[in-house]
Amino acid sequence: MQTHILGYPRIGSNRELKKACEQYWSGKTSLQELLETGRNICQENWKTQQEAGIDLIPCNDFSYYDQVLDMTLSVGAIPKRYNEVALKTSNSELDLYFAMARGYQKDELDITAMEMTKWFDTNYHYIVPEFYKNQEFKLFSNKIVNEFVGAKQLGVNAKPVIIGLVSYLLLGKEKEEGFDKLDLASKLLPVYIEILQELQAQGAEWIQFDEPFLALDLNEKAKETYQFIYNEIRKKFPKLKFIVTSYFEGLKDNLSLANTLPIDTLHIDLVRCEDQLDDVLDTLPENKSLSLGIVDGRNIWKNDFEKSLQLIQKATDKLGSDRIFIASSCSLLHAPCDLELETSLDNDIKQWLAFAKQKLTEVSLLKKLSEGTTDKAILNAFEENKKAIASRKSSALIHHNDVKQRVDAIAEVDSQRKNAFSTRKKAQEKVLNLPLFPTTTIGSFPQTKEVRSWRAQFKKGSLNSEEYKYLLKKETQKTIQWQEKIGLDVLVHGEYERNDMVEYFGEQLAGVTFTKKGWVQSYGSRCVKPPIIYGDVYRPHPMTVYWSQYAQSLTNNWVKGMLTGPVTILQWSFVRDDQPRSTTCKQIALAIRDEVTDLEKAGIRIIQIDEPAIREGLPLRKSGWKNYLKWAVEAFKISSCGVDDATQIHTHMCYSEFNDIIQNIADMDADVITIECSRSQMELLNAFADFKYPNEIGPGVYDIHSPRVPSIQEMTELLHKAQKVIPASQLWVNPDCGLKTRHWDETEKALLAMVSAAKEASLRY
Ligand code: GLN
Ligand code: ZN
Repeated sequence: MQTHILGYPRIGSNRELKKACEQYWSGKTSLQELLETGRNICQENWKTQQEAGIDLIPCNDFSYYDQVLDMTLSVGAIPKRYNEVALKTSNSELDLYFAMARGYQKDELDITAMEMTKWFDTNYHYIVPEFYKNQEFKLFSNKIVNEFVGAKQLGVNAKPVIIGLVSYLLLGKEKEEGFDKLDLASKLLPVYIEILQELQAQGAEWIQFDEPFLALDLNEKAKETYQFIYNEIRKKFPKLKFIVTSYFEGLKDNLSLANTLPIDTLHIDLVRCEDQLDDVLDTLPENKSLSLGIVDGRNIWKNDFEKSLQLIQKATDKLGSDRIFIASSCSLLHAPCDLELETSLDNDIKQWLAFAKQKLTEVSLLKKLSEGTTDKAILNAFEENKKAIASRKSSALIHHNDVKQRVDAIAEVDSQRKNAFSTRKKAQEKVLNLPLFPTTTIGSFPQTKEVRSWRAQFKKGSLNSEEYKYLLKKETQKTIQWQEKIGLDVLVHGEYERNDMVEYFGEQLAGVTFTKKGWVQSYGSRCVKPPIIYGDVYRPHPMTVYWSQYAQSLTNNWVKGMLTGPVTILQWSFVRDDQPRSTTCKQIALAIRDEVTDLEKAGIRIIQIDEPAIREGLPLRKSGWKNYLKWAVEAFKISSCGVDDATQIHTHMCYSEFNDIIQNIADMDADVITIECSRSQMELLNAFADFKYPNEIGPGVYDIHSPRVPSIQEMTELLHKAQKVIPASQLWVNPDCGLKTRHWDETEKALLAMVSAAKEASLRY
């Protein structure tokens, strides 16, 4: 029996990599210093794994920005627009690499970055490879081999982690028409072979190919490509040992394909799909070993040893222990580094958790326990694990019967407005009295340096709560007055009291806690600290009423209440694994519902419930969509349907495709939906038009991701475009998203122009 993990976090337990990269980018440190930080992190990670007793230690799981971009550089899939950058950066491969990740704006060049998108259903973003019809690949970067050699010098015969060829192609995007990216497989293969040859020459024994697509819906062509590629690789390397990993889903209908691949070890994710174990054990060919992904790489809960040992036992009974690997379910990239750094977490909660470093120990203990160790310390650790698991099952911190009962008692009426939209629309018109093409914003206004420094001072204690509130109130007042002055119709308070749209609510909801250093890489040097939903969620006290009410008291215009929706709170947190996600989501939905009805009671007649993450929560396999959409939509409706007809519910979603989920968006039945639209030149609106979407829509008329100020004319044109497909009586005018990352001067100019564009549109109408 062997132990391994699929990858380790590379940011460093104090975010050393983030700091080093950002300093290098800003020109404050040298390339040498950055490289040294990188090397130190790798060494530290290898050492940590050695000490924990991991047998097969990964390398090439480190990355200065993103592992997919690393692969792109390795195989020389460098888009042509970087040719000139490559000349300028010819003495530093890493500079070209960063230019591809972040764009290049110097030496009179202005080259855009490569596109970024989410890594499957995680919050990690990878850089999307760009593919062209007659693309040539050639070995460009030696990173993979260099990292292997680096480990070897420290006495570690590491297992290089390489994105499998088929998954690498499937992760990319065809940038011209008339070909299928899988057609490139045979052209890419020689570069993979070259890399493997060099690794073999350097003494590599094990290679891990990550093939997450093996657990997704595959077409025939992809299946054939898998067989072709792995057969070719095997022919060239009869002696290298290959582990092919699947994760985030079960192999399901691809199991027979996986079984036929000429590899040594197949890795399966038993956290996401425990059910697959029986089928895999029944069908795995005798010449293959099985890697049991049993320690959750994506969540922070302590492993339940008793349960895991039963699964391991089942597998060893069938295959014999020498054909078994104990592993993390996926790379530990998605888990925070080290629980021991958390000094102020509640001790009861802390004993239920394991971060990356602790997960290493879990993997290693599971092996020893399943081999029947008699070592006292290990047996003690097992007893402690049992105690922690038992305490979590019954803890009063987690379980609140009134919350459970309330969820059980949810009835159909709770997710229905009193009347249909057509009736509500009339009631709302009467109360709200808004013009045609009403203007609004998405919620946040610029979080200036001052605003952020007040929050920091407040958290440190150098501002007391009265002083802090006073400053925020002044900022809110300024924002309300300014919105009034430029003639916006529906105002917002600006969200100055919030650092983050999920964290703000998480901090106030019961059943949710926060770490101090639980950073997880989101993309490049950006890290996030997801809240931990550990228990039954409820709302001990109103969360936003104070600020909305205050803002409303300052003006005769309507001020829109601003909330984050239950699906988004769920999606951007570490979620408890002891009950279905849908149950947790409904608990959050009830808490938000309480807030919505309190806002209504406080005189707020327009309430926005943001759900930017609803689409990214879609299961990886289509077969799971229906069920997810059912509970996700229901959760939104539970949160939003407790109000009168005349109270207007808004929702907001960021850049996403709507075509295949438009019916579900319509089922959410928000009175108004604002969507990000300008980057697609209103194209995203077509889904709503084709569907004849009945409720009101605010397609974003300008991109808030860039400091650029849009002209009145371009926004008028976009509105005109919108009006061609959506009746004017249904249209709102707003930016793409919140303005918190923008500066005031850009914001002022842009919104002023937006209001003029709306006026022009209504005059023309
Ligand atoms: N109301 C939020 C804001 O304006 C919405 C943010 C988002 O959609 N990501 O900041
Ligand atoms: Zn948004």
